[in-house]
Amino acid sequence: MDGDNPDALPATIVCVDCGGTCHRVLPPMEGGDRPGDVVAYRCEDCLDRWDLIAGDPDELDDP
Ligand SMILES: [Zn+2]
Repeated sequence: MDGDNPDALPATIVCVDCGGTCHRVLPPMEGGDRPGDVVAYRCEDCLDRWDLIAGDPDELDDP
């Protein structure tokens, strides 16, 4: 990540359930993630799916 997009989500996250690695199901769109984008992750260990929302959720309430 080059750090110029503070709303971008990482390529992987740590699974809350098993501590494994969850990979993005889809790569970021061109231009990166935008606030409010829903990004799905799939755990490689337990195959659970996790959805994260890009950006700060608190900011989404302000138009
Ligand atoms: Zn897992």
